[in-house]
Amino acid sequence: MKMILLGAPGAGKGTQAEVICDTLHIPAVSTGNILKEAVRKGTELGVKAKGFMDAGQLVPDDLVISIIKERLAEPDCAGGFILDGFPRNVQQAQALEELGVAIDLVLDIEVADEDIMRRLTGRRVCASCGASYHTAFKPSKAEGVCDRCSGELIVRADDAPETVAKRLTVYHEQTEPLKDFYEAKGKLAIVQGQEEVADTTKLVLDTLSRYGG
Ligand code: ADP
Ligand code: ZN
Repeated sequence: MKMILLGAPGAGKGTQAEVICDTLHIPAVSTGNILKEAVRKGTELGVKAKGFMDAGQLVPDDLVISIIKERLAEPDCAGGFILDGFPRNVQQAQALEELGVAIDLVLDIEVADEDIMRRLTGRRVCASCGASYHTAFKPSKAEGVCDRCSGELIVRADDAPETVAKRLTVYHEQTEPLKDFYEAKGKLAIVQGQEEVADTTKLVLDTLSRYGG
């Protein structure tokens, strides 16, 4: 099964990718995670990507396409994979076709913009140990202080409200057209994202079994 997870930033693609990964025993490939890792390590790729990411913009296509090309050539992807966060625009989808990758299923997780804003702008991370919190859904015991290490809780640059709004605009303008792109190929399945992660997971797994996963 070669599949794509589509959906706005914060729709829960990464979480559902992990579940599908465990269920189907195929790797999840997240361009966002690969890029974040490169930024953390300060590699050449990371240095090139960081400014775009902090501003909530897409990293240039040639960079992400070469990441994907290399990653999908690794042996663990031979039996299928889940793409999380790629493609993000029609050019990237076309590049995937040019690489000879035939996608079986595109699963779109739908979440309303106001819910996305609430989820992402409430996220806090510990500046010292990296633990994550949410002001509404997973608050720390003392406001602004990490339960684990007493470090300071901060808002990631790309979770600042203006940046989240920017990421949503980019999603609607550039990524959402992929729904029509894959619908026209008969590959699109839509799942409504639920408040509870487990409820979304159930819908995702139901959909997968309908598509022979
Ligand atoms: P989120 O789902 O939280 O928006 P991701 O982890 O998918 O974030 O990606 C983080 C950032 O990495 C994006 O905001 C974007 O700048 C960059 N990025 C990830 N995947 C792509 C891609 N396929 N094309 C361009 N930029 C990407
Ligand atoms: Zn901490």
